[in-house]
Amino acid sequence: MGTMRYFSASTIHPVTTPAVSHHVLVVEEDGTIVDLVPEQEVDATKVEHLEGNLIPGFINTHCHLELSHLKGRFEEKTGLPDFLNKVVAQRAAAAQEVQEAMQTADSEMWDNGIVAVGDICNKYDSFAVKAGSRIHYHSMVELLAFHPERTAGAMEQGNSLLQQLSELGLSGSIVPHAPYSVSPALLEQITAQCADSGVPTSIHMMESNDETEFFVQGTGLYRRLYHNMGMDIDFFEPSGKTSLATLLPFLHPKARTLLVHNTIATAADVVHAVEQHANLWWCFCPNANLYIEDRLPDIPQLMRAIPEGRITLGTDSLASNHQLSVWSEIQIVLQRFPELKLVDVLPWATLNGARYLGIDHLFGSLEKGKRPGIVLLSESTIQRII
Ligand SMILES: [Zn+2]
Repeated sequence: MGTMRYFSASTIHPVTTPAVSHHVLVVEEDGTIVDLVPEQEVDATKVEHLEGNLIPGFINTHCHLELSHLKGRFEEKTGLPDFLNKVVAQRAAAAQEVQEAMQTADSEMWDNGIVAVGDICNKYDSFAVKAGSRIHYHSMVELLAFHPERTAGAMEQGNSLLQQLSELGLSGSIVPHAPYSVSPALLEQITAQCADSGVPTSIHMMESNDETEFFVQGTGLYRRLYHNMGMDIDFFEPSGKTSLATLLPFLHPKARTLLVHNTIATAADVVHAVEQHANLWWCFCPNANLYIEDRLPDIPQLMRAIPEGRITLGTDSLASNHQLSVWSEIQIVLQRFPELKLVDVLPWATLNGARYLGIDHLFGSLEKGKRPGIVLLSESTIQRII
């Protein structure tokens, strides 16, 4: 064994067990956790004393590194359909600008204590940054094809990007974009493939009332969006139900599926969904919700309906967030919902995300044998220790 480091802090949060004070975290130089012991068991001269909460590195379960160059580009609070229009119209940029923005975003996440990211991608642009990063990335190749006839083509495109990821030694899966941009047939094929390979999948879900209107009645902003794009969606039949209730039967029951945003979801939506699908996970991206829609999900109400351990946090992209920081997402949750405490939310930001991504053997808690990254939170500042 090499040199050990010994950290004490005001509070140490292993996450898998209750927080402790007057303890010392024993860590190998490479960051592997060796032990957590009462402070009297350690030679005090060896201990590095830290002020604040010592926690494992953060897991960001929803990001779009590819959109990093759009930072600060879009006006806030204009609603999702308008936001999507702008992303589609303005995402093209010089390759070098895109690469530099992703490098900067990757370093920013590292400095903000993020150790692993579930990252949505539509093309191969982000692969080189990911291959060279100290952060663990699971790339989610996002497919859009609303017309059922485009299902096979979309799957082919997605699988060719997956192939490129695997050639670079990067982990990946295919994911559907959103209820209003994939067909039930595509949803079935994507989630069946993910279930087969045991990899996570995700879908943007219940982001705005426009989405509900489109599924319930077939009208509204999404109908107009398709009309303006010149797309014939005569095949689409409104179901009279929410997007989530409509699409649940098409999600493979064994696919670990992250529902992202849930901005307008109610406890009743959650209860109904959980009854039908045992493998749902729920991601909140509060800063992005405020940026785009100027509203937040009713997190305290939803968390009572969501099964234990199934909530995660995401930053979404720099197109709809001022920073890529899970700590900043936690802070906004604690600010807006004072009944929640750091210990309630910490598992969302660490262990739950690691379990969802299937990397909890390494990440998500300060447990022996893991190399989860070590982060110090003090007041409003964050410091990466390892
Ligand atoms: Zn997103």
